[in-house]
Amino acid sequence: MAIWDSILDILFPPRCKFCGSLLDKSSLDPCRKCEKADFWLTPVQAVVLGTEYSRCVCAAWYREPLRTEVSRFKFQNHPDHAKAYGPVLAKQIRFFLPGAYDCITWVPVSEGTLKKRGYDQAQLLVEETAKALGTQAVSLLKKTKDTPAQSSLADGRKRDKNVAGVYAVPDPSLVKGQRVLIIDDIRTTGATLEEAARTLRKAGASQVVAAAFCRTPRNG
Ligand SMILES: [Zn+2]
Repeated sequence: MAIWDSILDILFPPRCKFCGSLLDKSSLDPCRKCEKADFWLTPVQAVVLGTEYSRCVCAAWYREPLRTEVSRFKFQNHPDHAKAYGPVLAKQIRFFLPGAYDCITWVPVSEGTLKKRGYDQAQLLVEETAKALGTQAVSLLKKTKDTPAQSSLADGRKRDKNVAGVYAVPDPSLVKGQRVLIIDDIRTTGATLEEAARTLRKAGASQVVAAAFCRTPRNG
């Protein structure tokens, strides 16, 4: 096994999953350079208020060099990045949302996207986050329509419209009276998380809080 690992390291040198820098040996932690990077959010920047959810906790700005790595996670078949990002998001949740939720779920991709991509990155992120929090994620939402990617729409109103009514709760008995923590990979305008939270509340959730690994800076 050790030999096979060394061969893999030569063929695919290990890289930091946060900045892409080459590493001596593979690690899930942010590298030395990353520890000083300017993409980490300060405590004041980490919490964003919402309407359908009371607050959303984030870990980092969606900014280079992290942005490239998160895109690779999402679009370029690097599901393993979830193992690095989950514990980082869990740390924020432990700090900012202690005792604020009964169960953890995620904003799912549609069946079509899942088939094309082969994995649901938000689900992987949430599973790793929940594991780090000592619990398990539950599937509560379903995306019922294929819509253009939110990232392809610049305008906030178009983003709101694009996600309106696209989520459903297949089993409302799982949601009724529950305080739900809903997680997504990237929060841009908040439209997706708002819509997902609205759907959960309509299905009977008593309260919704949110978390996202990255937050997009307001200027893009
Ligand atoms: Zn790094």
